[in-house]
Amino acid sequence: MTPNIDAAKAALSHLEIDDNPTSLKAKSRDFFWYSPVLKARLDHLVGDFVVSPRSEAEVIEVLRVCYAHDVPVTTRGAGTGNYGQAMPLAGGCILHLKNMAAVKEIHPGRVIVEPGCLLKDLDTACIADSQQEIRMFSSTWATATIGGFIAGGSGGVGSCTWGSLRDLGNILRLRVVTMEEEPRVLEFTGQELARVSHAYGTNGIITEVEVPLAPAYDWVHLFVATDDFAEAALFAQDIANEDGILIKLATVFEAPTAHEYFTRVKPHVTAETNLIGLMVAPHAMDAFQTFLARRPGCRLIYRSDDESGWDRSPGLVFEYGWNHTTLRALKVDPSITYLQVRYGFPDHLEKIEQIRAAFPGELLQHLEALRENGKVMFAGLTLVKFTTEERLDEIIRHHEDIGAMIFNPHRYTLEEGGRQTVDDRQLAFKREADPKGLLNPGKMIAWDDPNWAFDRMYSYPNIKAAE
Ligand SMILES: Cc1cc2nc3c(=O)[nH]c(=O)nc-3n(C[C@H](O)[C@H](O)[C@H](O)COP(=O)(O)OP(=O)(O)OC[C@H]3O[C@@H](n4cnc5c(N)ncnc54)[C@H](O)[C@@H]3O)c2cc1C
Repeated sequence: MTPNIDAAKAALSHLEIDDNPTSLKAKSRDFFWYSPVLKARLDHLVGDFVVSPRSEAEVIEVLRVCYAHDVPVTTRGAGTGNYGQAMPLAGGCILHLKNMAAVKEIHPGRVIVEPGCLLKDLDTACIADSQQEIRMFSSTWATATIGGFIAGGSGGVGSCTWGSLRDLGNILRLRVVTMEEEPRVLEFTGQELARVSHAYGTNGIITEVEVPLAPAYDWVHLFVATDDFAEAALFAQDIANEDGILIKLATVFEAPTAHEYFTRVKPHVTAETNLIGLMVAPHAMDAFQTFLARRPGCRLIYRSDDESGWDRSPGLVFEYGWNHTTLRALKVDPSITYLQVRYGFPDHLEKIEQIRAAFPGELLQHLEALRENGKVMFAGLTLVKFTTEERLDEIIRHHEDIGAMIFNPHRYTLEEGGRQTVDDRQLAFKREADPKGLLNPGKMIAWDDPNWAFDRMYSYPNIKAAE
């Protein structure tokens, strides 16, 4: 199957096409470079052209034409994914959804929106309409799209209360276009949503999203400091378990993260300070102060509704959490990389202590309180002082040996970045919706090699060679 790029471009020339080498390169990249492993393998990749449809009808046209000419299609929201999700491994067409960003309908408790809408713009529209907000968002709220969050993300700010995106009820409906001779438009609800959500655009293009809303608050952003790491982790866990105190974020940064990497926080902490980042609803602040007063080892050092004492505002506290922690650390120390860990209930705190004891000075804990089936546990986005790929693999194996699950951010496939197993529902839908395997090729191992044993890093055989 040889793609006929020129024929596809000619057939789509009446749409918004970009093949300027500089912007083509920029639109072929995401935040893959967070990982030294992915950087070494994906840095050279570039698509052949970008097309930016303005409607679902134009998406259908792009897919029909690319199907006819065997051209691979990699969908792009804003390109903030950090697993190389939006990188065109086989070149071809970049389907950019920036022009499909309309908020279509807002109802009590739900919103219907086009996929290219930025999370921030979606919140702004819902607040203006009826004082509602999205339940959860990636910490890239200001720059990422709702479609990219659903197709490539997992959860984030709000997950301490609402769980993860994959949990029932956190996505209500998706409208999806297939990659066939005559593309079909399908609607997914309930358990069918798992076929296309978090599928990296490998088995359909999401053209409409319906997600639930919650009442909007003018959240108070807070930093709490303590010299004891275990106390910080317990604080975050316990505040997330306080049923009457409404929070949207509880993050723990092990010392000296705040001192080393958070420039605006640095004057207010020492190298021994473990920091807790929080978002608390304004009406819950009294109760929060009572909770805090019961923990004499913890002191409030910042609140966004009273910035006195801070010459320079630290800004939004969630922009220190989730994957922003790694970004801030990388800016100061380019040798830093990271891991994504699930410290499951009930022995999450013990497992974290085991890991801390095993890798002093090499790993720094960064924890996000996360609700899973009604229980608070932690997602770890551990900072790692990178030395070699072999050492990184050893560290990963140690986590797995003690039962801390790794979602490996140094791999570009769905399976390796997930639970290292084949998702039969996503594979079955790909067979139905993308019979030529043209959607985001190389990202679903099960499609390429159903017998893959997961005993080493998967390497997509048709990856475009460096020129
Ligand atoms: C600093 C930083 C912080 C982050 N924080 C978080 C976080 O808190 N939580 C989290 O889950 N992730 C986080 N991420 C990862 C990433 O930002 C999120 O996954 C984000 O929501 C992706 O949105 P995007 O619009 O940039 O998607 P893109 O990166 O453009 O795309 C992501 C994936 O979805 C596919 N895709 C995009 N749109 C569609 C569509 N309409 N139909 C089908 N497939 C589609 C793409 O092909 C790609 O595989 C973070 C990344 C960075 C760099």
